[in-house]
Amino acid sequence: MAVLEKLTSQDAIALENKYGAHNYHPLPVVLSRGEGVFMWDAEDKKYYDFLSAYSAVNQGHCHPRIINAMMEQAKTLTLTSRAFYNDVLGVFEKYATSYFGFDKLLPMNTGAEAVETAIKICRKWAYEKKGIAEEKAQIIVCENNFHGRTTTIISFSNDEDARKNFGPYTPGFIKIPYDNTEALEKALKENTNIAGFLVEPIQGEAGVYVPSEGYLTKAKALCKEHGVLFIADEIQTGIARTGKLLAVDHENVKPDMLILGKAISGGVYPVSAVLANDDVMGVIKPGQHGSTFGGNPVAAVVAMEALEVVKDEGLAKNAETLGTLFRSELQKYIDNSTIVKLVRGKGLLNAIVINDSEDSSTAWDICMSLKENGLLAKPTHGNIIRFAPPLVMTEEQLHDCISIITKTLKEFEK
Ligand SMILES: *Cc1c(COP(=O)(O)O)cnc(C)c1O
Repeated sequence: MAVLEKLTSQDAIALENKYGAHNYHPLPVVLSRGEGVFMWDAEDKKYYDFLSAYSAVNQGHCHPRIINAMMEQAKTLTLTSRAFYNDVLGVFEKYATSYFGFDKLLPMNTGAEAVETAIKICRKWAYEKKGIAEEKAQIIVCENNFHGRTTTIISFSNDEDARKNFGPYTPGFIKIPYDNTEALEKALKENTNIAGFLVEPIQGEAGVYVPSEGYLTKAKALCKEHGVLFIADEIQTGIARTGKLLAVDHENVKPDMLILGKAISGGVYPVSAVLANDDVMGVIKPGQHGSTFGGNPVAAVVAMEALEVVKDEGLAKNAETLGTLFRSELQKYIDNSTIVKLVRGKGLLNAIVINDSEDSSTAWDICMSLKENGLLAKPTHGNIIRFAPPLVMTEEQLHDCISIITKTLKEFEK
């Protein structure tokens, strides 16, 4: 094995700049170690992680149980492809379908792949079960959505950076405003070829937009009434992040298709999945969809252990309790603040909105200052900062973090 020399942060950044494509704009911090809610940089400075790799690391960095499960399986069998069976995938499928309450699971690797999978299943279901004419199926999506980066998915994004010069775009999507059931009802009534409604229960990337209470219930009822599949993208909101196992659980809504990724592996390995009942999943036959790595033995054991940890450690309950505490403590600060407009969120998926223009650098500058003070967070969409620590955080640690955040914000008050 090539021995890696210990790099300084400056060297690591220089290497990425010179040899890597510039498809991200990272905060200038180089991380070399993680454990639980903490990460350390190349110079061994310690930070609280308040992003959790976009909510992939809900179980905390390098969770020993998940890492052990991965190492044991990695020594035994890593990849067979689906040309053959392996002795772990079925066990995982049984475990996860019972865990989330669906008949069947289709395993993939990344979130975007799982969204693509759901789109394909939805269209096929529409042609074969609903009787929509060939090539005519439409899927309703929401404005300001984030569902990933593939050509089809960016086709229905309204983020110019994500879209511009990547056309021609995939047709077959109708965009309506988020958190607006009248718009959904209108779209369902005006079009006879609707196959599904794809929605994030909370719009994470857009800036942690929590829809009004009852939105998901009403949307699901409308989908049912019009014979349309309700598809929940819980890649960011799922796996205990918002204080329940799934964000749809806050309204006891059961999606026709559930899309999971990110924390289904605890951030240890790329694992994603689509879950649905037999009447929907049954439309997929051999040769019609797949992935070389999807459902590999390492992914299967990692995901099972990561889900088991969520239950054993009561992470949903902890996210609920700490999230309520976080918002109420920040609200106390905001009551006397000119720099922060509001805090919003559910469980430990939260954001603050900075009182400055969308294109100002204030949110970025605050994140740079948070970094100096030992806490890592990232702006999302201009003047919004998302706060999403690992769910294994203790109350004492959260109080420590709240004081870092408020102390930092004070530097920016006018
Ligand atoms: C992150 C994310 C995706 C895409 O997942 P990748 O693993 O980055 O492809 C899709 N939908 C939502 C809601 C996400 O947060």
